[in-house]
Amino acid sequence: MTAPLLDIIKARIARHGPMTLGEYMALCLSHPKHGYYMTRDPFGSAGDFITAPEVSQMFGEMIGLWLADLWIKFGQPSEFILLECGPGRGTLMADIMRATKALPGFHGAAKIHLMEISSVLRDAQARALAGYDPVWIDDLNRLPPGLPVLLVANEFLDALPVRQIEKRGIAFFERGVSIAPDGSLCAALLPVPDAVIGALPKALVDSVEQGIFETSPHLNQFLKSVDILLKKQNGVALFLDYGHARSAPGDTLQAMKNHEFVTLFETPGTCDLTAHVDFENVVKIACEDGIVAHGPTTQGAFLKELGIEVRAERLKKGANDAQAVDLESGLKRLIDTDQMGSLFKVVALCNDPQIEIAGFHESV
Ligand code: SAH
Repeated sequence: MTAPLLDIIKARIARHGPMTLGEYMALCLSHPKHGYYMTRDPFGSAGDFITAPEVSQMFGEMIGLWLADLWIKFGQPSEFILLECGPGRGTLMADIMRATKALPGFHGAAKIHLMEISSVLRDAQARALAGYDPVWIDDLNRLPPGLPVLLVANEFLDALPVRQIEKRGIAFFERGVSIAPDGSLCAALLPVPDAVIGALPKALVDSVEQGIFETSPHLNQFLKSVDILLKKQNGVALFLDYGHARSAPGDTLQAMKNHEFVTLFETPGTCDLTAHVDFENVVKIACEDGIVAHGPTTQGAFLKELGIEVRAERLKKGANDAQAVDLESGLKRLIDTDQMGSLFKVVALCNDPQIEIAGFHESV
């Protein structure tokens, strides 16, 4: 089997020395030609993993109603940016639009923008959203100025590259990737820049003798841009992802292929690499930027507060037996604590402290 990205990574290491895990993750996921997302549609039972919008239409319906409520609370602007970051197959946005069809003015006002790195997935999104005239952007600076923004991102933050810093007593190292004597990729410990250690949560780092700390300059930069956008143009951003409510040490970087965990150095570019999101960090950045953060809460609590169980009952009334079983298993998968209900967390960011935001009564 040819492994073009493996060869590219080895050549880079041979030329420049070992690379950080952050560089490795960025190459694996988004190398312009051979990156994981650039070459495939990874979702669903035939793919590598399944996400909430692909589990059940009810996920997007709930988020659609949540967005409709906010549009009303923002005074029903005649034009607003409806932005999704990392839209995958476009399923979530299609369900949002279906759920909001009956709300007069919403569709006419919504200017759909999609921030997506993969051309394969952009094609899938174009098919899912035919008729809605979506506009694709590469980064947040490309949005039209002046319009309020309603942003949603499901399993987007976990795809942004992380760096791992290892503390051993008073010494710090950065985890990286090198080439073993047999020619395969292997783990390496590298010197770590002082600025990177300085950016870690100090009290947490001081409290452990030995441990791994993850930090994502990409994610931090992206969130800062979101906060600036919300302050400048008004709006709300909703993030759903797997992760922890409180900052904690630990290695959460994982590789997935065909619904199974594989080793990190499994043929690069052919498996999904993700890291858990530190939601305390998301909230901290928002606070520093003068943005109000709601949550984190769990996905289960959020969807239940929005009425997903009532919606499931209503759908079941018009369903045949097989559909009713599907609806029930989809519901359980989304909200049960032993499935996606607890591991997945939700945070909403808003520039306006006066706006009441549904779904966050049960913060964790
Ligand atoms: N939200 C979708 C897909 C989640 S997978 C769902 O829930 O099903 C992550 C998505 O983010 C993919 O669409 C991937 O191509 C996109 N993505 C990853 N890194 C990105 C980046 N840096 N900029 C824009 N999109 C990115």
